[in-house]
Amino acid sequence: MSIRYQSTRSNAEPISSAEAILQGIAKDKGLYVPTEFPVFDKDFKELANGNYQEIALYVLKKYLGDFEESELKDAVDKAYDDKFDTPEIAPIAKKCGAYFLELYHGKTIAFKDMALSILPYLLTKAAKKLGEDKEIVILTATSGDTGKAALEGFADVPNTKIIVFYPANGVSEIQKRQMITQEGKNTYVIGLRGNFDDAQRGVKALFNDRELNEELNQNGFLFSSANSINIGRLVPQVAYYVYAYAKLLKDGEIQEGEKINFVVPTGNFGNILAAYYAKQMGLPIHKLICASNENNVLTDFIRTGAYDIQREFVVTISPSMDILISSNLERLLYEISGRDGTFVQNRMNQLDEEKRYEIPSQMREGLKDFYGEYATESETLNTIQKVYEESKYVIDTHTAVAYCVYEKYKQETKDPTKTVIVSTASPFKFTKSVANALTRDNQEEDEFRLIQVLADFAKIPIPAVLRDIGQKEILHRTECEKDEMKEVVKNILGI
Ligand SMILES: *Cc1c(COP(=O)(O)O)cnc(C)c1O
Repeated sequence: MSIRYQSTRSNAEPISSAEAILQGIAKDKGLYVPTEFPVFDKDFKELANGNYQEIALYVLKKYLGDFEESELKDAVDKAYDDKFDTPEIAPIAKKCGAYFLELYHGKTIAFKDMALSILPYLLTKAAKKLGEDKEIVILTATSGDTGKAALEGFADVPNTKIIVFYPANGVSEIQKRQMITQEGKNTYVIGLRGNFDDAQRGVKALFNDRELNEELNQNGFLFSSANSINIGRLVPQVAYYVYAYAKLLKDGEIQEGEKINFVVPTGNFGNILAAYYAKQMGLPIHKLICASNENNVLTDFIRTGAYDIQREFVVTISPSMDILISSNLERLLYEISGRDGTFVQNRMNQLDEEKRYEIPSQMREGLKDFYGEYATESETLNTIQKVYEESKYVIDTHTAVAYCVYEKYKQETKDPTKTVIVSTASPFKFTKSVANALTRDNQEEDEFRLIQVLADFAKIPIPAVLRDIGQKEILHRTECEKDEMKEVVKNILGI
């Protein structure tokens, strides 16, 4: 029997994985979760013989059993091909006493490519399986990286349109340029005058707008989501945790069964949740170390059991983690509450109304897999410099948050467990901060010229996708206010 999916907010009948992927979010506003976790039926030594594609296929088959194996294989082969600049797809660098799992070798040089290069295939195959002939409208809020990765994934995919809202002043110059130069007849990019939480809230409201959905329906459209609320994004992310473990085993870095830690620079809690899913499946993981920047809501939650968003929203140099409402935490709450949809529903309502909630003390037991800590802005910059000085290895600001938190973790716990730093972006994606951290020279303001400065200074090659970014034609200029999102979407669809 294939694993089925149910909403985190009700006890409604579970649905198939194809249905869950197509719907994106449940009608009761909950997120889809597997009704059970699959387990490994191969040992890791055996898995370690496979390449990235084989391991990804193995994981996908476990979670998406209502797809044919041939459909999943086709999706995997098309997603993880030479779009990635290394055949390893997710190489591991051993530096500074840790293993850096580089998830930024795809087209947009950030880890969102790992899932968003496969989601369009899963989604269109799901639609076909379910006999859905409406045009799929992907609606996405982005803190910078999801947007571009989703645009790349869905550009010119037949029978889809993709609409991306990004915070107009909340993403890096390079992130913005990557998005507003996006080609593809079905792509729409809008700068929202607000922050990421505004964008995410607005998009969720559109998904849940009955009237709008009805109108869409009548005009032959159907909303779906490329955000990590879509289970079709989460499942492909489980694969690289399994891959990392298998690779370390194969390289003789760890023994079979030996537990390892993962440090995950966290925003919407999607990436670290995928690691938690891997652990539930039986991957030998000791601690899941949740690294935050100064928007440290999750650090406090893990340490106290209180989730409180009544605090200043800080725009940081790791903008993809500038998030106060981490959507995927809802999926963890569901698990640690013993799969209590009513509990989750109530907490989410409370968060909406009172801007905070707490979990009962016995439930905090369920958080013991996690360790939470954060890095300040100056600690982040110092970490980039320190890692470079020690090993000539250049990391981006998000990865630096993770490594800094790892050092704090080691100091606090003295835990000798081997640890993987999940490296979520190329240093070239956040050139200004990285170049400033390394050269301590703020003279050059132009982020595009800084690409060359960074390459020359650290003697590292510029990623191919960035070589001509400064010259690319700007194709998207629309901006809008928070209360105009619905109008903008209707205009795009001509309804
Ligand atoms: C999206 C993103 C994150 C945060 O990942 P979540 O799954 O939202 O927790 C971290 N780093 C980078 C570079 C990202 O793009």
